Amino acid sequence: MELLKKKILDEAGVEEGHILKVDSFLNHQLDIAFLNEVGKEFKRLFNDNNITKILTLETSGIAIASIAAQYFNVPVVFAKKIETKNLDKETYDSDVYSYTKGRTYKIRVSKKYILPEDRILIIDDFLANAQAALGLMDIINRAGAKLEGIGIVIEKGFQDGGELLRKKGVNLQSLVIIDSLEENNIKFR
Ligand code: 5GP
Repeated sequence: MELLKKKILDEAGVEEGHILKVDSFLNHQLDIAFLNEVGKEFKRLFNDNNITKILTLETSGIAIASIAAQYFNVPVVFAKKIETKNLDKETYDSDVYSYTKGRTYKIRVSKKYILPEDRILIIDDFLANAQAALGLMDIINRAGAKLEGIGIVIEKGFQDGGELLRKKGVNLQSLVIIDSLEENNIKFR
């Protein structure tokens, strides 16, 4: 997606540990006109999959998934990372290791919101080692629902998540793949 490459080259920064900082349009301030284009692109890529629900993770995935959902006309469910008293008792849980935070946390989705008849599209901001994606896939599996595909805004092609998911036969569509972030020089695939 050329618009996304331009946003990254114009606005992104590279932090220690091969972290791309996209706070000006994706992770802190949200560029809604840009996110509309992202939403339309996901709709184009998964148009034939009869998606019934979009699944993401709080927090960064919510805005992207919500804007995309308007083009699919389906609800968004976001897995909760933060333990709250008002979450239903009956949940599907999975453990996710966070590369950016350097720790493992639990994600939860109420059993009410993923049903066996659901055809699910996972959407997230980044794909690195696929820990978040595998956690969400585990939840979809437990619910007996069908994973139709995974839509990622920025895949870090130098980490092994993309290869792992493609080897599993997942319909993974990344809007951009970054092959290197060495010395602040961003190289796209
Ligand atoms: P994974 O679970 O695929 O290993 O990592 C994906 C998650 O880690 C994303 O949901 C994202 O929040 C975070 N993440 C991984 N790499 C980066 C990065 O370079 N920049 C930012 N902003 N987040 C990242």
